[in-house]
Amino acid sequence: MSDCIFCKIANGEIATNFVAETELSVAFWDIAPQKPVHVLVVPKEHHSNVGELAFANQAALVDLIQLGDKVASQLSTGSYRFTFNTGAEAGQTVFHAHGHITSETPKEQLV
Ligand code: 5GP
Ligand code: ZN
Repeated sequence: MSDCIFCKIANGEIATNFVAETELSVAFWDIAPQKPVHVLVVPKEHHSNVGELAFANQAALVDLIQLGDKVASQLSTGSYRFTFNTGAEAGQTVFHAHGHITSETPKEQLV
């Protein structure tokens, strides 16, 4: 979608602070972090929410969850939340499917 900010981030049109990438997904730091660790995981293919992604492309959904888990284990102690807001009244503001990885316990706090 030409006017979608996460499509533009995923295809490199808009620069961002990337954390990781696979063939199907990207992970990058949230621009307005709500927790010490706050990363978004986003499918490269445009779907407006996680449910639509699940029905349209199961491989992309599984890849998204796997990437989120990997990023969470790299950046946090392993205790994290994986949140998908669906619908404006639930707080969704960007209508390109994305999961929030949030954690109170970044890995570096251990050392
Ligand atoms: P939602 O509220 O839709 O679940 O989550 C959208 C998230 O995207 C918000 O946490 C917001 O801070 C983040 N966000 C919105 N625009 C940008 C952007 O241009 N770059 C990055 N890195 N994050 C963004
Ligand atoms: Zn999009």
